[in-house]
Amino acid sequence: MNSLTLEEIVHAPSKNKLAPVTISLSLFFQDVFHMVVEVPRWSNAKMEIATKDPLNPIKQDVKKGKLRYVANLFPYKGYIWNYGAIPQTWEDPGHNDEHTGCCGDNDPIDVCEIGSKVCARGEIIGVKVLGILAMIDEGETDWKVIAINVDDPDAANYNDINDVKRLKPGYLEATVDWFRRYKVPDGKPENEFAFNAEFKDKDFAIDIIKSTHDHWKALVTKKTNGKGISCMNTTVSESPFKCDPDAARAIVDALPPPCESACTVPTDVDKWFHHQKN
Ligand SMILES: [Mg+2]
Repeated sequence: MNSLTLEEIVHAPSKNKLAPVTISLSLFFQDVFHMVVEVPRWSNAKMEIATKDPLNPIKQDVKKGKLRYVANLFPYKGYIWNYGAIPQTWEDPGHNDEHTGCCGDNDPIDVCEIGSKVCARGEIIGVKVLGILAMIDEGETDWKVIAINVDDPDAANYNDINDVKRLKPGYLEATVDWFRRYKVPDGKPENEFAFNAEFKDKDFAIDIIKSTHDHWKALVTKKTNGKGISCMNTTVSESPFKCDPDAARAIVDALPPPCESACTVPTDVDKWFHHQKN
């Protein structure tokens, strides 16, 4: 990798299989970002980055004392993409989005990764951004970025949202249907969408991601009050929340081990939810 010039890396990314080059792509290619996978495709556990916990671990959401699982909406099984977030972004709840007229949902920006591999929880992958959907969840803006793993065998064929329409017919319609109805089994209303539930293209998506990155920067440098969000970090030099790696290690070491094997999944997680569409 060290023998490559910047120009060579920019012009020959697919020939180079070295992981550090893939990681560094996000610095050079404007449509490639990192994604933290929270929920692998076809699983149900509602895992998410716990923004209020120190160092923001991935944890399962708990509601009324019970671990939360999303319902299987007929005809789907669990989440229909690898679902996660782009690090270093924040949908600011104090910022009224000019496109949706609603404030942010207080979380990193969400990503639906449409590649063929089922990713692992906690995996960090490079994704090509292809488009974006403007969901409105109980009055909050909740953007959903559509992207594909840069290591997917078909990644070269996907460069914008129209490629998804052409090469995976029905997937975007299913995505809107899923997001519209996924909270209905929990007694919540259907979600709504700006732009008549139409997907915006890659350039629009990247502009939105950049604006959420600016909001994150203000948060982590204490220019915005995050009201309970833990911004503790080990890498952002201009952040007053930066701590040394030993302090971070001590926090991680003090956590209980993951309970994967000890937890049994309730049988009603397998239920298929049939719902009359409006
Ligand atoms: Mg969100």
